[in-house]
Amino acid sequence: MSEKIKAGIEIHQQLDTNKLFCSCPSILKQDKPDKVIRRKIKAVAGESGKVDVAAYHEELKDKTFIYEFYKDVSCLVELDEEPPHEINKDALIIALQLALIFKSRIFPAVQVMRKTIINGSCVSGFQRTALVAEDGFFEIELEGKKKKIGIQSITLEEDAAREIRRDKSSVTFRLDRLGIPLVEIVTKPDITTPKEAKIAALKIGEILRACKVKRGIGTIRQDLNISTPKHPRVEIKGVQEPYLFEKVLEYEAKRQAKSKEGKPEVRKANEDGTTSFLRPLPGSARMYPETDVPLIYTKSYVDEAKKNIPKLHETIKLELKEKGMNPEMIKLILKERKLQEFKSLLKAYNKPDLVVKFLILWPKEIASHEKIKIQEIEKKLPLDILESLLEKTRKKEIQESQAKQLMLEIIKGKSIEQALKTESIDPRDLEAFVQEIVASKPGLSLNAYMGLVMKHFKGKVNPAEASEILKKYTK
Ligand SMILES: [Zn+2]
Repeated sequence: MSEKIKAGIEIHQQLDTNKLFCSCPSILKQDKPDKVIRRKIKAVAGESGKVDVAAYHEELKDKTFIYEFYKDVSCLVELDEEPPHEINKDALIIALQLALIFKSRIFPAVQVMRKTIINGSCVSGFQRTALVAEDGFFEIELEGKKKKIGIQSITLEEDAAREIRRDKSSVTFRLDRLGIPLVEIVTKPDITTPKEAKIAALKIGEILRACKVKRGIGTIRQDLNISTPKHPRVEIKGVQEPYLFEKVLEYEAKRQAKSKEGKPEVRKANEDGTTSFLRPLPGSARMYPETDVPLIYTKSYVDEAKKNIPKLHETIKLELKEKGMNPEMIKLILKERKLQEFKSLLKAYNKPDLVVKFLILWPKEIASHEKIKIQEIEKKLPLDILESLLEKTRKKEIQESQAKQLMLEIIKGKSIEQALKTESIDPRDLEAFVQEIVASKPGLSLNAYMGLVMKHFKGKVNPAEASEILKKYTK
């Protein structure tokens, strides 16, 4: 790599809250829409009097926009027939937490703006966006050396509708995604090598995942900005994987070095690491204030955000490791995002292995064995129930081996007390079974018999009692 590059990363991440300017849930739909609405959008001049280049580029295509509406995840706000509600506080707090983690300067007051989006993906013709903080940094480590990467801005904005279909005269959008809160993180152009770009993208990803963000395909969108000495800035959209940051930068630096006429433009990242032209880079006449949403004074929200700043996974892993927990278990807790619950259950019984069984492993086993959705199980086994079960186990009121069966009974609708009652096995049944196995499988060890008894009664018997009876018949 000989070309001198200056690059920055731009990441859009969906937050795991309701929508940003109404109380619709942030859920994507696959079934048939309740309504279909057709609209046309015309480019209008922004406050500066200029119509944006990018806006023209789109408008020339003269398309009809078709919107698929779902009443359980969209309302009149998405249809632009009702003004936006107050900004979603949960989303604002997550954005502020990120601003704090990135040590950036949070604005005392935040003004929601309208950004012109004329491609149809926003019904109103604009996207609401609020600059929350600027001028922060984070550190990456490369070959043992630390390097600071600056953060230019942290913005909270609403996602656009998603494109479903496109033909010569129309584009169809689904309104489910419109309004889902996104945090946009833009770094300064401090990245100078492809490898740095990859490591920086991974690091930002790790920080985001420590916060309450959506997970999975389509919940994060990553772009790259790159310029080289003889070429102005090019924006590259949709770099899917962190390892592609490296490839795309390498390719783009070479392409820019060879390019005869360098124009600022927007390109698209292809899966093989090459890039292709999308459209000219939008001009600057794109923003005007959203007068339907009042100015947001951030002080009280910053105080709120500070109370519960998420820790990075690396920090948590280190802390748990120091407490003597095994790495596999730590990984599982973090993957399932159960750290808060895990910590709170440890207070009931300070036995990490067992807490992981109660909290994660057994519910999963029950889910797959009984074909019940894990969400259903989690609803029926809230934290206080798990806490109470763990406490009873600690006090030896329940045997560890009984606990999973008890959980199942509770999931099926019983209270803890009812479940405990049905758990006691009639001693006569126990004795009859012991007689039977000792007769049919003579000469086994006491432990082996015990195993068979536990298996037969699904762990519901009191081991002391069973051992007493076993001794009676094996001697
Ligand atoms: Zn809504």
